[in-house]
Amino acid sequence: MDTETILPAGADKLGEKCGIIGIYLNKVMENQKTDDATNSAMGTAPDGSAEEASYNAAKLAYYGMYALQHRGQESAGIACTNGTDIIQHKEMGLVADVFDGAKLDEMGGKIAIGHVLYTTSGQAHIENAQPFVNRFKLGGIAVAHNGQLVNYDQLKEFLEETGSTFTSQSDTEVIIKLIAKSYKKGLERALTDTIQMIKGSFALCVMTEKSLIGVRDPNGIRPLCLGKLENGWVLASESCALDAIGAELVRDIRPGEIVIINDDGVLSFEFGEHTAKRSCVFEYVYFARPDSIIDGIPVQEARLRMGAVLAEESGVKADVVIGVPDSGLGAAMGYAKASGIPYAMGIVKNKYIGRTFIAPTQTEREKLVFVKLNAMKSDLQGKRVVIIDDSIVRGTTCKRLITILRRAGAKEVHFRVSSPPVKYPCYFGVDTPSRSQLISSTHDVEEVRKEIGADSLAFISCEGMMRALEGLNPESFGYCKGCFTGEYPVSVPGELNGKQL
Ligand code: AMP
Repeated sequence: MDTETILPAGADKLGEKCGIIGIYLNKVMENQKTDDATNSAMGTAPDGSAEEASYNAAKLAYYGMYALQHRGQESAGIACTNGTDIIQHKEMGLVADVFDGAKLDEMGGKIAIGHVLYTTSGQAHIENAQPFVNRFKLGGIAVAHNGQLVNYDQLKEFLEETGSTFTSQSDTEVIIKLIAKSYKKGLERALTDTIQMIKGSFALCVMTEKSLIGVRDPNGIRPLCLGKLENGWVLASESCALDAIGAELVRDIRPGEIVIINDDGVLSFEFGEHTAKRSCVFEYVYFARPDSIIDGIPVQEARLRMGAVLAEESGVKADVVIGVPDSGLGAAMGYAKASGIPYAMGIVKNKYIGRTFIAPTQTEREKLVFVKLNAMKSDLQGKRVVIIDDSIVRGTTCKRLITILRRAGAKEVHFRVSSPPVKYPCYFGVDTPSRSQLISSTHDVEEVRKEIGADSLAFISCEGMMRALEGLNPESFGYCKGCFTGEYPVSVPGELNGKQL
């Protein structure tokens, strides 16, 4: 389930950071105005107006960002170029609120990059909205970043000492300033120099007037994939964005790989030393859309299998299995199938609750969960219920959910979680609270059970979660499980962004 929508603006909240997209078009499609659903999405502005045959990379980025909206709802931005200058538009808000048909038509673009933001290192202000654009004598550059740098403070200090000034608290500004510093050596050199200096997680879409560049950090912590359009190329955080614009998934960008896309095609090279793949396992647990395929693993399939392993590890006698919408549903279906207990809907989520749904007081916020989620008496009355969620972080959501289920007449409530207990903060782009606020860091499983009011509580084991994934694509094995184990792929300072280790 997604919790940030019921928290007040600025509250200590959970969050995921960012979705990025890049579009490179190598020819104008003359036949864009068709009735075909995909093509009409590409050829018709959101206001329904007809379009002249011209480059429309900004519009494709827009539709891709729409599909990535679950990765960030604070701001949306697109930078694009027709080959001479880079223009951009970014504002706070959802993709559909920030852009309209006229704006996208005006932007056009042979190349475009787009970004949806959920802040981690900075705060939710327009200065932190992306992409970041820098203009030099030799040309411009724009950067969209998903991830978080662990050496931001040191790099910023170094840059300030050598004359750079900053307008935001975003670590992405450090990236663009570093590129700027060595830009006169040429773009490739500037990029490789920069990438070797930055540490942490970074999936990047970089754009100049002539090329689109994709980069994934040496551990591949955050996802980035490459897609093919009939008339160009796409880079995106998740493959669901490729589907939305009729692009075909070619492959994932490899950890430590740079791809440069221009009219000659896609040029790939590796930077730095070889390090082990350590992609974020929480993408499969919670972040990613179930219809995405990340590093060769369909997200929904991963969730189904996590649910099945959970049923093997901690089965219980019950009459019905339900999932917490949306991210708990896959695991619940997997649990039901493996255990043979019937699956039911059980909970309905109000689809119309967005970021604006905020409340000033804790009491009011607690009440709002009843507006956001409701239980179906017909599925639950008098039944022993197994409820599956993808994670317990602070423990507030599950506590309220259990109250809702009991009100709807559930006789017993058995809470099952398709990820291990979250005990440690994330330093790589997930805005988890500090350890003291992570319920599993301060309580053992039995104490959590009492606290949330469940009849029984069980989490999938770390080995079980790995078993679920291993079976799917052994070749892409290797995950960051830092939030569960406290072992991180890149060493982090003892205290970072106010989070105590
Ligand atoms: P909590 O109420 O703090 O225990 O949060 C657990 C709920 O938050 C689960 O329903 C998860 O689906 C959801 N969740 C997990 N990680 C995140 C995140 N990074 N941002 C927003 N919601 C999350």
